[in-house]
Amino acid sequence: MSLDWLPKLAEGNRGALARAITAVENETADAQAVLAEVQPRLGCARVIGLTGSPGAGKSTLVSALVAAFREQDLSVGVVAVDPSSPLTGGAILGDRVRMSDHAGDPGVFVRSLASRGHVGGLSRTAARVVDVMDAAGRDRVVVETVGAGQSEVEIAGLAQTRIVVVAPGMGDDIQAVKAGILEIADILVVNKGDQPLAQASAAQLGDMVSMTANGTTGGAWSPPVIITTAVTGEGIPELAQAIDAHGRWLAEHPRGLDPQGRTRQLVATLAGQRLTDALLESGDRALEDLLARVARGETDFDSAAREALKLMSQAP
Ligand code: GDP
Repeated sequence: MSLDWLPKLAEGNRGALARAITAVENETADAQAVLAEVQPRLGCARVIGLTGSPGAGKSTLVSALVAAFREQDLSVGVVAVDPSSPLTGGAILGDRVRMSDHAGDPGVFVRSLASRGHVGGLSRTAARVVDVMDAAGRDRVVVETVGAGQSEVEIAGLAQTRIVVVAPGMGDDIQAVKAGILEIADILVVNKGDQPLAQASAAQLGDMVSMTANGTTGGAWSPPVIITTAVTGEGIPELAQAIDAHGRWLAEHPRGLDPQGRTRQLVATLAGQRLTDALLESGDRALEDLLARVARGETDFDSAAREALKLMSQAP
């Protein structure tokens, strides 16, 4: 299949972006070429993760945040990840409907991803889609995830700035924040600021933050608690400012991997690429059988990948 369109990805061409995302999402034969094209262009986008329980107002908030970014003339990519729903699920459809505020704006590109059974696979796919958007020159990439335990922590790992959204008075949410989500939050948002318990919930979260912050050394980032009303846009400028402030703080306090960690990451990536090439070029009989089984739907991509790894490690 021709890859004529691929160089257009770096120019930010929407058609090329859509094709590139589809290739990495569906792991088509073009995926490797796309990832190779993407790799040298990474690191320009600011990636913002936003997570919270269903109904907290994440999608409405993302849409409002996108509007704020667009006012600053920043191009935006949105990756909506729902580990709990199949691809045709209602939440995903809902995201699309809400993001329709930005339909027709070439500066906004939205892609929804849903679970196909493997959360690990989903966060890997999400990471690749974020990379493709980054390489296509999107200034901001927002990754929206439904809070569903481990998965949002994994997906939050993609983001430079992580926002946890709760709705007022949702005791369970506050508990969830306590149970570890707080550790991943750079910014806490109490959405639905128009509801009576918003101030109290924000105060409660603020107390939790200061209790945690007591144990940290000077210069650490202390997550601000921001009250927003996504439906009216109230609090959105403050949220956008907090995101910028965190970006500036990160520039001075990079929390990226240390040099050893980066080397490990790089070697792992290169080893992964070699393995990919070897697999693509291999004419191994057992591998062909495995691919045929995938084609017949007898095994899924993830199990097939594991089996392929085993086959490759046995190869002479
Ligand atoms: P998500 O499931 O977290 O993505 O939440 P949604 O964005 O779908 O919002 C859930 C519901 O809350 C929708 O009916 C929204 O219109 C509503 N909602 C979102 N933000 C606000 C807000 O600031 N105030 C009020 N009163 N309702 C809101």
